Parts: sequence; structure tokens; C-alpha cells
Amino acid sequence: MGQIGVSRARHIRYTRVGSNKSGQILPMTEDKEIELKCEHCGADNLDSFVNGGSYIFKCLTCKKDGPATSFRSISKDLHGQYELIEVDQDLTRRETLWTGEIKEGIDRIQLETSKGKLIWLKKVV
Ligand SMILES: [Zn+2]
Repeated sequence: MGQIGVSRARHIRYTRVGSNKSGQILPMTEDKEIELKCEHCGADNLDSFVNGGSYIFKCLTCKKDGPATSFRSISKDLHGQYELIEVDQDLTRRETLWTGEIKEGIDRIQLETSKGKLIWLKKVV
């Protein structure tokens, strides 16, 4: 354990999330590749979190938010074994909710995050 990032892709395609004039969050149809590096502290230590329908990269070093997109738009591209960990806003681990093939955990993730939980999608390597 503790091997965060070893097998993680360096780049990921994502749909940018924007907001319209009334402040409603909308996925924008723009695919681009982002580098998984923190724009705040420069650490190569971003990992993925889900909260209320958003898929957010957060820096495990400085705890700040990186790029975000809608979980719905990216969930079909996820694959492999993941651990679903409920965390506090400061990313302190609370408990592991589920471990398994991510495709089978999508409904669980949507259910848990719709209740306001912040969930760390930690790839099992
Ligand atoms: Zn950082």
C-alpha cells in the first residue's frame, strides 16, 4: 500500500465543467488532456474524489482542488480495481465503504455522494 500514483495515467481526457449565467454548473463539451500535477504547490500528487455529482482532482499534499468534471461524464471511462474511501473535507480518511471493480461501484458512488459524502476513489495497485 502507499503506492499512490504508480500505475496512474499521467494524462486524462475530461469534459470541462463550467457554469452558465445563472450559476448552474454544466459540463462543457470540451475534451482536453490535463497533466495530473497540482497547480498550487506543483506536487505530482493529485488523486480523484467524488462529491455531489462532481469528479474532482484534489492534491494529497496541499489538499487544494484541481480540475473537476461531472462524475457522470467520466464514469464510463473508469476501469480497474478501486477502493471507495469516505474522507473529511481535509481529506482525513474516515472509512472504506467498498472495494472492487469500479464499473460495479458506480451506483454505490452516486448514492453515497448524493448524501453529501466526499469519497476518495483510490486506485488499488
Ligand atoms: Zn498541491
